[in-house]
Amino acid sequence: MRRLRKIKIVATLGPASDDYDTIRALFETGADVFRLNMSHGEHADIAERHRIIRQIEKDTGRPIAILADLQGPKLRVGVFKNGSEEITEGQDFRLDLDDAPGDATRVQLPHKEIFDVMEEGATLLVNDGKIRLKIKDHGADFANCVVTVGGTISNRKGVNVPDLELPLAALSDKDRKDLEFVCGLGVDWLALSFVQRPRDVEEARELARGRAAILSKIEKPGAVKNFAEILDVSDGIMVARGDLGVELPVQNVPPIQKRLIRMCRAKAKPVIVATQMLESMIDSPMPTRAEVSDVAAAIYEGADAVMLSAESAAGSYPIEAVQTMDNVAIEVESDPTYREVINASRGGDKQTVADAIVSAAREIAETTNIVAICCFSQSGTTASLVARERPVVPIIALTPMVGTARRLCLTWGMHCVQTGEVGRFKEAVINAARAARSEGFANENDQIVVTAGVPFGQSGTTNILRVAPCDERLIYPNDTPPE
Ligand code: PGA
Ligand code: MN
Repeated sequence: MRRLRKIKIVATLGPASDDYDTIRALFETGADVFRLNMSHGEHADIAERHRIIRQIEKDTGRPIAILADLQGPKLRVGVFKNGSEEITEGQDFRLDLDDAPGDATRVQLPHKEIFDVMEEGATLLVNDGKIRLKIKDHGADFANCVVTVGGTISNRKGVNVPDLELPLAALSDKDRKDLEFVCGLGVDWLALSFVQRPRDVEEARELARGRAAILSKIEKPGAVKNFAEILDVSDGIMVARGDLGVELPVQNVPPIQKRLIRMCRAKAKPVIVATQMLESMIDSPMPTRAEVSDVAAAIYEGADAVMLSAESAAGSYPIEAVQTMDNVAIEVESDPTYREVINASRGGDKQTVADAIVSAAREIAETTNIVAICCFSQSGTTASLVARERPVVPIIALTPMVGTARRLCLTWGMHCVQTGEVGRFKEAVINAARAARSEGFANENDQIVVTAGVPFGQSGTTNILRVAPCDERLIYPNDTPPE
């Protein structure tokens, strides 16, 4: 099964997509990566979705990446007697540590450390910034606020405090438990919410102990400021536009998105554009024109992946949402302007033999009619370098490591195939030709490029490139082909 586009689709699973048939349909329609959101759902639900994905992998013979998204130090109000309340502009509203259910005058804010750093005049944003509260006075366990923008406030709505530097640990106790739980299940990517500093990423990496790659969600002003350093210590990035657009003025989000995508590509690390991509499709089978433009923009900018949140997790049209992204991607990627933009933004600082080999592979694809670049990769590093080149032909990543095959499902243009260990380059070429044919990328008359590192089994040794025919009898015409 091959995709007809390069950009990847991440689909969040939830109550609208928690059975085998729906998840399988999402996969077949185009979801390459499934996101398990640890902010919602019990461990038993998460484990069941995980089991279904791995079953679909078995049933289809295709690797699938699982991304577990840790909630992070997200602030939330407590609960209300009536579930929700209307609060209006000009009225007073109190936040405190009292766990009694809230009413129209007060609610719990169960984060003691926040009261210690509160400042008179600072703004608190509730429910994605829809409600604004201004602090009038405060003490060790309360803050009296005035409502500057009113609205409906309901159970456990999120709270953002962009004006204050929060003394919060990057990983809450819940995050640590969730991390251990999902690493036990076996996930490929761990996403960290509200990363503020490189240290936050390193802390998660220590806890993950190599069991998952680490993806930093950029959704705090501090993370934008420290982005280069955060990128250095991360394996991937998410432009988490939901919280980012609350913590910063919304109009700052598009330029940040562009800059982050460019920097990730330069470092050959995958970047996801997330949140509200097809928001209206939660209740409608048709997207708005603006949403289609937004998905298209992320593709033109060279993102590795676009993501669905509530659209696939809780909406009425999860399959249609994936189909929409797939349709938009196929259209954009066949536009000559897309090619121009992608080629013009190639850049990246090239220093190694691997850099030169992947660049040569891309040039061969532009100059001749080879049908795929087949790349033997242990850790996935060389395959990622090929993706950074954004070649016109498909990239087939061949690896003996199932973890590498799954992780690379998030990377632009990558078709991952798990192979046996290969000992000699000759075997590698034959495996590549077989994979290109059996996966539907080539027939016997086609040619492919094969890259690898010899000796095999060491990562970071890419040093060989061959243009090879896909007809096995022609690869080493004087040898008898191995079985
Ligand atoms: P969330 O992250 O959906 O976990 O909040 C994405 C975002 O903030 O955009
Ligand atoms: Mn977020």
